[in-house]
Amino acid sequence: MSAHTPSRDVQRLTLDEVRTLASDALRAHGVEFDVAALLADRIVLAERDGPASHGLFMLPSLLSGLRCGWIGARARPRMTVAGPAALHVDGDNGFAQPGLERARPELARMAAAQGIAVLTQRNAHHVGALRCDVEPFAEAGLVAMMFVATRRRVVPHGGRHPMLGTNPMAFAAPVRGRPPFVWDMATSAVAVSDVRLMAESGRAVPPGTGVDRHGAPTTDARSILDGGALLAFGGHKGTAVSLMVEIMAAALSGGRFAVEDRAAEVPGAASANGGQTVIVIDPARAGDAGLAGRVADWLALYPDTGAERLPGDGRLARRDAALRDGVDVPTALLRQLREAGRAP
Ligand code: NDP
Repeated sequence: MSAHTPSRDVQRLTLDEVRTLASDALRAHGVEFDVAALLADRIVLAERDGPASHGLFMLPSLLSGLRCGWIGARARPRMTVAGPAALHVDGDNGFAQPGLERARPELARMAAAQGIAVLTQRNAHHVGALRCDVEPFAEAGLVAMMFVATRRRVVPHGGRHPMLGTNPMAFAAPVRGRPPFVWDMATSAVAVSDVRLMAESGRAVPPGTGVDRHGAPTTDARSILDGGALLAFGGHKGTAVSLMVEIMAAALSGGRFAVEDRAAEVPGAASANGGQTVIVIDPARAGDAGLAGRVADWLALYPDTGAERLPGDGRLARRDAALRDGVDVPTALLRQLREAGRAP
């Protein structure tokens, strides 16, 4: 949650307390120590940098997925070197982060050696914000893009029935003298977790977010979640981008298209295991070893446009505040997760 003056309904936690809370809950649900630690770190990053909807808030649905066997708690991802610049991981129906984490150094090495490298992963449940997966590459001087295929939730532009996932994508590039330029976003008008947050707090979603079960436009978050569907951002353009993400993430990895997702048939299942693809480029090999400096000089012109801030700068402001003040967690969620951490 964003850092601000705590109210009665929230309690302020340090990031270490968030980490312990998440890790205990995951371990109590059979997740091995190192994977629980990795996922807890991931949840800390979402609480620190945002979006809060992908931090502790999403943990109960992951625990539910573990309890019903939708996600394998003891998965063993298998990484294959598929070529001089290609890695493939089968996630063994576990979480995506262990495979992504394990592949990262090799992927960076391949990109430096070959100029460009690709990782695909299938059969793995991606957790949280994609920004956390691409930023480390840019911190190492590389350019990275990521595509993730998710559950069937989005009606294509002009259609009436959902076919696509919320299909997020992310981009990161190094910038000399400052943290990388990073953005990530769902290709649906709004991410599902945010719709859930709005539903829980009784807030209306913006017009253009989704449709109800009859295909009629609605601003009622509950109607979207209860048999309705989301719309792609930007009409036909967002639909085109979403189709691309699904090809890049689900088709390229050999994973599941959103229409092949079976989570709806498994009570307790919530997460998507459609597939993930990461592409990493070494600027020195691609044509300009001085990319980080040129991008820095170029972005220095940005404030002259009158734009308030760069995409991705929100995360840096939230990061500063969270490191300084800690984060606020709804008391009810905190109680639920503490209880989950005591589960046998
Ligand atoms: P947002 O629309 O909130 O933000 C999209 C991007 O724009 C971010 O990089 C954000 O960075 C930036 N941004 C936001 N507000 C502004 C602004 N006023 N001016 C300039 N830039 C801005 O993201 P979404 O709701 O689409 O997605 C939320 C998250 O959900 C993402 O982290 C995404 O990775 C994740 N997601 C994960 C899925 C999964 O299956 N794992 C599925 C779908 C989404 P910043 O705020 O830091 O500036």
